[in-house]
Amino acid sequence: MKEDSKKIIGAHVSISGGVENAPLNAAAIGAKGFAMFTKNQRQWFAKPLTDENISQFKANCAKFGYKPEMILPHDSYLINLGQPDPKKLEKSRNSFVEEIHRCMQLGLDRLNFHPGSHLKTIPEEECLDRIAESINIAHSETEGVIAVIENTAGQGSNVGYCFEHLARIIDGVKDKSRVGVCIDTCHAFASGYDLSTDEGYDWTWKLFEKLIGFQYLKGMHINGSKSKLGSRVDRHHSLQQGELGEHLFERLMNDSRMDNIPLMLETINPDIWPEEINWLYSLEK
Ligand SMILES: [Zn+2]
Ligand SMILES: [Zn+2]
Repeated sequence: MKEDSKKIIGAHVSISGGVENAPLNAAAIGAKGFAMFTKNQRQWFAKPLTDENISQFKANCAKFGYKPEMILPHDSYLINLGQPDPKKLEKSRNSFVEEIHRCMQLGLDRLNFHPGSHLKTIPEEECLDRIAESINIAHSETEGVIAVIENTAGQGSNVGYCFEHLARIIDGVKDKSRVGVCIDTCHAFASGYDLSTDEGYDWTWKLFEKLIGFQYLKGMHINGSKSKLGSRVDRHHSLQQGELGEHLFERLMNDSRMDNIPLMLETINPDIWPEEINWLYSLEK
């Protein structure tokens, strides 16, 4: 039953017209949580949130019972916290701090981001250490919000395509209480973790537990995959289509390790989000 389920299923909803519309858009599709951008994701800096934006956002969340642990905001795609160029790195770091401030203003407790890219200029390890340092800097200038690193498909020069990368970043972060990870099912599959089979599912999460630990799992992106296992191509699909198959989602919905964290759809057809949400809940035994 969806009402007493411990799974917080939602989707990445629009903030068009203002951040305060995100909880309304989530409620309209029957979501128990939501993901959102805190500003236009294609801009480096945005005009500050108004008192009106903030109070309406909080009022709309309260009206539908959305608490911070059910909400997974996502930062701008422009930000590269592992950027090799010092000037550009500074811009990314400033923009990231601004995003955390927006989360603080909205009363949110976590911010999901793609770790970064080495742009074929510096070694992967150096890029990972730069990302950890970026998180440390952001922590020193903000309060409360957890930096949630997302695993990537490993497209281009993106780091974060294996659990070892995520573990190395966490290792370099001083305040472990303010760092976590978000595992995207499509990205994991595209980077070579075969979540589509029972054996692959068990092996992947066993490795996750060994290298990272479930205490750091602060959210997941629940996506189908157009791209093949290990292709390192980031192409999401609807849940019941594509290369991942359906069994993975049955496993996830019956795995208590994913209880009480935001599980967010970034599937490609928003028109069927209500059906996808209901379908996921129907898989619970
Ligand atoms: Zn994702
Ligand atoms: Zn993706």
